Amino acid sequence: MILQIATVVPCTEAEGPGRRFALWFQGCPLRCPGCCNPEYLPFKGGQAVALVDIVEQWQRSEIEGITLLGGEPFAHAEGAAALAREAQELGLSVMVFTGYLREELEAKNDPATTALLAETDILVDGPYERERPDFSRRWIGSTNQRIHFLTARYRADDPCWQKSNTLEIRVRGSEIVVNGFPAIPALGLWKGWKRKSGADV
Ligand code: SF4
Repeated sequence: MILQIATVVPCTEAEGPGRRFALWFQGCPLRCPGCCNPEYLPFKGGQAVALVDIVEQWQRSEIEGITLLGGEPFAHAEGAAALAREAQELGLSVMVFTGYLREELEAKNDPATTALLAETDILVDGPYERERPDFSRRWIGSTNQRIHFLTARYRADDPCWQKSNTLEIRVRGSEIVVNGFPAIPALGLWKGWKRKSGADV
């Protein structure tokens, strides 16, 4: 199976509990104002990657789980469900960020959507709303977004959800890769750095 992906971060602590393999799909039909990843919206572009090659990367790393983001994972539900199934078989947890509401996904009655939900431990749903940034729940972009614990693997009362947000900045050759969501004190520093460096990230 081939997946159309925008990028991956093989090991991050900025996209869910523990160390996680994060994968952004290429392509999203939604248009949230202020979307953090506008370059991931077109369905053309990104890279076509074999599922087996992604799974092989997990076997070489010490991760607790995988996180699927967008682009919109449910617009790639068949591939995302297959990926999530492989992760569960390896004992890895699965976290998915979606711009849809859980109710909308459940009402679709689409086998691939149902399959992806069935393999998901944590679902973060709802469109990102730029005017409602969330600085109190770690890893969550805006206050309207809900966290659904679809299995017993994680709990809402785990203190990890209350810690500060995490922003990671990586330099890959000539490219700067940023993921996560900044905590309030980091925002001023981050904006200042962007102004000084002229970075478009
Ligand atoms: S669902 Fe995510 S990727 Fe799609 S427009 Fe909204 S924020 Fe952007």
